[in-house]
Amino acid sequence: MLNGDGLRVVLWVAGCNHCCKECHNPITWDPNGGLLFDDAAKAEIFEQLDKDYISGITFSGGDPLHPANGMEVREFMAQVKGKYPQKTIWLYTGDVWENICGYSLMMYVDVVVDGEFMADKKDGKLLWKGSSNQRVIDVHRTLAQEDIGIPVLYCGDYAEEYRVTEKPENACGCCS
Ligand code: SF4
Repeated sequence: MLNGDGLRVVLWVAGCNHCCKECHNPITWDPNGGLLFDDAAKAEIFEQLDKDYISGITFSGGDPLHPANGMEVREFMAQVKGKYPQKTIWLYTGDVWENICGYSLMMYVDVVVDGEFMADKKDGKLLWKGSSNQRVIDVHRTLAQEDIGIPVLYCGDYAEEYRVTEKPENACGCCS
């Protein structure tokens, strides 16, 4: 519930080069760490996504866009979107939108939370992010613009500002 809209499956991917001060997950920095993402792991995720009350999947880490992960993450996102077109895909990354907006995997992503965690900008009340420099970005709306480098925010910084953008069709009533 803390990693995006609704109740979600979360996949923490190993590998991160950002080395943010006070990172909560340094155990995920090693791209060779973690557990092998095999067919059994994939089946477990699909089993969860089959449930009506699961809103979608969130890719977090580590950084799912670490060079060691990008291709496989893209491939798995394509499978998820093909199998569950109504469910949303959220992506947390330490990189900023301006650097990643042209990545082909964005065609599968609904929301990106971007930017490194900055301890001096930490705020425990922020919605779906840890520091105020990070942005919760509506990928579809952003990519529909002429200049895709200018992010359209999915929501404001705090829960009471939620939601700046319109509620998606599959959102539950309690979020409006
Ligand atoms: S991007 Fe995330 S996982 Fe990587 S160092 Fe920063 S806070 Fe930690």
